[in-house]
Amino acid sequence: MDLDLVFLGTSGSVPTARRGLAGTLLRRGGERILVDCGEGTQRQLLRSSVGLVELPEIFLTHYHADHYLGLPGMLKTFALRGREVPLTVYGPPGLHDLFGILRRVFGRLSYELKLVELRPGDGVGRTDYRIEAFEVEHGVSANGYALVEEPRPGRFDLDEAQRLGVPEGPLFGRLQSGERVELPDGSAVSAEQVLGPPRPGRKVVLAGDTRAADSVREAARDADVLVHEATFSLEERERADETLHATATTAAELAVAAGVRLLALTHLSNRYFGPEIVREARAVFPETVVPKDFDIIDVRFPERGGPRLVKGGALGRHEEGEPHDKDGSGDRGGRSGGGGGDSDDPALGRDPVGARVGRRDASDGAR
Ligand SMILES: [Zn+2]
Ligand SMILES: [Zn+2]
Repeated sequence: MDLDLVFLGTSGSVPTARRGLAGTLLRRGGERILVDCGEGTQRQLLRSSVGLVELPEIFLTHYHADHYLGLPGMLKTFALRGREVPLTVYGPPGLHDLFGILRRVFGRLSYELKLVELRPGDGVGRTDYRIEAFEVEHGVSANGYALVEEPRPGRFDLDEAQRLGVPEGPLFGRLQSGERVELPDGSAVSAEQVLGPPRPGRKVVLAGDTRAADSVREAARDADVLVHEATFSLEERERADETLHATATTAAELAVAAGVRLLALTHLSNRYFGPEIVREARAVFPETVVPKDFDIIDVRFPERGGPRLVKGGALGRHEEGEPHDKDGSGDRGGRSGGGGGDSDDPALGRDPVGARVGRRDASDGAR
């Protein structure tokens, strides 16, 4: 199962010419989950190999403007394309209040919008993974999120299977999925006989904006990837303390204490370019990267080499049309919208501009 992180925006508070505002796309198999949606995120998606796919779920870490101002525009674009797939937005308490205001900006939508408030400790469960909200320290209502996979079946012992007389073929698959199978000679083999102990699944943690906090350290324990902010370098430590942000050093110290495999620092203040942040952090925790916009972290299983940074990995052709979206949740809509690259033209939506949203849409003028 492929699992990766696409960095769409890596700047803190204000965008720079090279870095957009907060937005990270989690891709797992055919699923697409956006975490934060800073101003410009929909265009970053359009410019990336992902395209502006009909995201079914967006998680917000908190309600500072650099983390959500991209939402009204994106929701509006989806509506202009005549989207019908429901969209769920998750966020810490305060989400309903925020949307009370935002609705006046984006008007009526062509699809159902669900809002779900999550408190630290709440989770969203899926068949083989879950997303857990955890506490951070940023002075406002805020969540970090951890994607935690279920343990995987143990390694299949091919030699043992052959020794037991299991013929190569479909029986291998059934044993791997935990079944007990009967052999042609009438004997039986159970999964436990040929499978090693269960192996842990992967864990990816996105802390959002926070100072280096005990709660983050616990949530990030043994994570494959910790995405942590490093708004400042150590020389701005006082500023970081005042504003409840982390420095490259404090984030790296946290990564050491949590035992993570890879630390990805993001949300850089516009006074930094990246190399100074990565240098500072690597002095404490060598396995640190500072992704740029459109970089990818490929979260490989440990036996496949573990997580790695793929520079510019999301630049290039759109993924729409590639046959890897098993459940279609992410990509189907991108195609129906006429392809991510062109869909910023409202004429491609099913309705002429304004037809569906009507007079109430006058609030658009306020943008
Ligand atoms: Zn921020
Ligand atoms: Zn913030």
